[in-house]
Amino acid sequence: MSNNIYHPALKEEHDLIRQSVRDFAEKVIKPVAKELDEKETFSEDIVNKIGEMGLFGINCPAEYGGQGMDTLSYIIAVEELARVDGSQAATVAANNSLGIGPILKFGTEVQKKIYIPQLCTGKKLWAFGLTEPGAGSDSRATKTTSSLKDGEWIINGSKIFITNGSSALTAGITVQTVSLDHEDKKFNTILVESGTEGLKTRKMKNKMMWRASDTAEIYFDNVKVPEENILGGIGQGSKIMLSTLDSGRLSIAAMGLGLAQGAYEMALEYANTRQQFGRTISKFQAISFKLADMASKIEMGRNLLYNACWLKDTGKPFTKEAAMAKLYCTEFAKEVADAAVQIHGGYGLMKDYDIERFYRDQRILQIGEGTSEIQRIVIARQIGVL
Ligand SMILES: Cc1cc2nc3c(=O)[nH]c(=O)nc-3n(C[C@H](O)[C@H](O)[C@H](O)COP(=O)(O)OP(=O)(O)OC[C@H]3O[C@@H](n4cnc5c(N)ncnc54)[C@H](O)[C@@H]3O)c2cc1C
Repeated sequence: MSNNIYHPALKEEHDLIRQSVRDFAEKVIKPVAKELDEKETFSEDIVNKIGEMGLFGINCPAEYGGQGMDTLSYIIAVEELARVDGSQAATVAANNSLGIGPILKFGTEVQKKIYIPQLCTGKKLWAFGLTEPGAGSDSRATKTTSSLKDGEWIINGSKIFITNGSSALTAGITVQTVSLDHEDKKFNTILVESGTEGLKTRKMKNKMMWRASDTAEIYFDNVKVPEENILGGIGQGSKIMLSTLDSGRLSIAAMGLGLAQGAYEMALEYANTRQQFGRTISKFQAISFKLADMASKIEMGRNLLYNACWLKDTGKPFTKEAAMAKLYCTEFAKEVADAAVQIHGGYGLMKDYDIERFYRDQRILQIGEGTSEIQRIVIARQIGVL
């Protein structure tokens, strides 16, 4: 295979998707990534082009407008986008695993036919609203309410930090709510289309990272949607959330892996070029050992992540392995980005160098879709000690 990337789960189709996404990311995204980051701009044009590449809905069946590829293909696409720009990888991951994912898994045939095809084109995006100001890691503290009256769901509350929540491309949001109709705590997951009366969004600005992705606060003020907009049935919200996060963790792990790969390649090239004391700095043991550690972490992370994808693609339980991959790939992304800045010396702190953006972009990865602490809780439960 090309790219010198080997794993027992990789087939020729995976190699082809890697090469085509890598070429696309290098030619289309790389030239504009710095400017989009600086100006904090969400680019509809880039999203449309990613759509033309078929990367939205890449692992969604063809009957709903997708490419019908497996999880590993999707993960490789996210990895290759993140190797160049974390923001665009975030837009793709949020639309695929948080937007399309739960509708595909839990939606009725009618919901799938209405919502998914447009989301596979890159002309429309879908958001997943779980997090609230008072309900982050503790999602059971959700305060956004839903109640069924006269054939309509009435939704009140607010969500925060919602990816793909407020751009002109946003077609709607899957919102996690606590039911007012049950005495014991039950959660309803409901599909709300953009433009519904009472739904308001506010773009969140001044982010440290993912500055070219769309992050929003979303408010629900007596929002009314038809009864049939419930996803997966009444009271199924917890199950939907847990399943969605399992898959989402693979996406964030892929972003860690891709970012680390990009940072490592920049550091390697710089170390092989920069001369001090009459030789390239890669010839100093201190620098070559750093590079050896970076390459080893990437190799270990890739094996962990691809194994978790293989488990998912072959229908085996993958909760523990997804949490491990998310934890490990995002933690080593931080270490690799930090070492890459160190290898660049003072230049690594300048915005002229892409490594500065990578150093910022990695920091969300240990927080989004379950912090590192929460991943350890998930793993501890899976190994039976909690
Ligand atoms: C750019 C961005 C995009 C995002 N996109 C989305 C999205 O599309 N949809 C969505 O729903 N959410 C999204 N999020 C929200 C994200 O998932 C949450 O930020 C994350 O789950 C953590 O919640 P919190 O920020 O409220 O932190 P908190 O839960 O308040 O955590 C604060 C600290 O306490 C620790 N902590 C909490 N509980 C425990 C515990 N039991 N044991 C040990 N430590 C603990 C945490 O690990 C963390 O270090 C996004 C966030 C960002 C920044």
